[in-house]
Amino acid sequence: MKNITITQPQFVTDFKCIGEACREHCCQGWNITFDKPSVNRYLNSKQLQIRTTAKAAIKITKKSPANWGEVIFSTKNSNCPFMDAAKLCSIHGILGAEALSTTCSTFPRTSRIYKNEIERSLNLSCPEVTRMLVSNKDAMALNQITDIQKNFNNAPALPLKDKIINLFCQNIFSIPAGSVEIHIYAIVKFLMVVEKIENIESGIGRLENAYHILADEIVNGKLQTELAGINQNYNLKSSIISLMQTFFKEKSHTRGGGVLQKYIEQLQQQLIGENELCSFNEIIQDIESSWLNVSEKCFDHDYYVFKNYFKYKFWQQGFPQRNGRSMLNNLYLIVAEFYFIKILLSTHELVNGSIEQDDIIDVIYSFHSTSQHNQTIQQIFHQHIEKVRCGDDLSLLQLLI
Ligand code: SF4
Repeated sequence: MKNITITQPQFVTDFKCIGEACREHCCQGWNITFDKPSVNRYLNSKQLQIRTTAKAAIKITKKSPANWGEVIFSTKNSNCPFMDAAKLCSIHGILGAEALSTTCSTFPRTSRIYKNEIERSLNLSCPEVTRMLVSNKDAMALNQITDIQKNFNNAPALPLKDKIINLFCQNIFSIPAGSVEIHIYAIVKFLMVVEKIENIESGIGRLENAYHILADEIVNGKLQTELAGINQNYNLKSSIISLMQTFFKEKSHTRGGGVLQKYIEQLQQQLIGENELCSFNEIIQDIESSWLNVSEKCFDHDYYVFKNYFKYKFWQQGFPQRNGRSMLNNLYLIVAEFYFIKILLSTHELVNGSIEQDDIIDVIYSFHSTSQHNQTIQQIFHQHIEKVRCGDDLSLLQLLI
């Protein structure tokens, strides 16, 4: 028998779907694909209601066994055709939970499977997942259990180097001082040390040393002073904002798109409508200055909300990822996303003079629902962001000031 280590953050353990009370149900407004066995099960069901709905509302695509058919959503209310009047799933109600397709039975849960480890997470496209992440300081505390299986999983082992980098990065966000931007700056410096280490086992002492120096420099304000000395790059900020606006405008009809568009329109008003006499740089400075108010009103003294957010992103994406991009390039993408979320929330605070935790939940879940609810969309989105990288991943530092 083989030991399998299962690791998951606390909020994965605690998650429960809130069903009817959900602010935007996951059975509406986006593409849902069914695997081959599920398509056949529904088309040939003995239950007339399921069979009839399946024949009318599953488009057979045969793209792969995992993607055999796509659900055709209602043009009237964007709901899944299998959703009943009480907003409950008729497949679940009539055929039972075991009849659900892989997509429907797992969302919002995700897993990364390695030879002798499984890392579990949740998708921020679910508003309840986002609420749990931003409302519990310990949401990202990692828990481990051991499961016994007959065989190891049919997958490569998690490289030790990746595991160590991820844990160090998570720990940097747990240092109880400084803003989230300072912690990201510390991670950039940490990754530059990692890049010089060829053998992780013999280099672990250097990493521990670098970690302790950075922790001291966060606490004594040295990193804050260094970060403040970096030059502004409003061209980069302008390009990211405009590129994200274009991307999300095209997604305004998908699940979460309407919610996100409300915040984007507020930003557009600020950029073009209200401030005709001000330059772009002045408007952005004005918006960015509201971030301090967002922090004061919504975060505790430890800024844990966005530290949790970054811990989540590192965990969810399996940073440093081994996806063909460099570590700094992957970090650049995470920071570019954060910058846009920060600008939307700061604009909301500037325009309304107030911000609630609900705004943070709405912006984060709708952002992820429209850009990252599956790997294909996420890849397209990241290719899109990359267009304004200015040829240098270290330009991410200019998005922190
Ligand atoms: S989005 Fe999340 S909370 Fe809402 S219905 Fe789906 S799983 Fe439940």
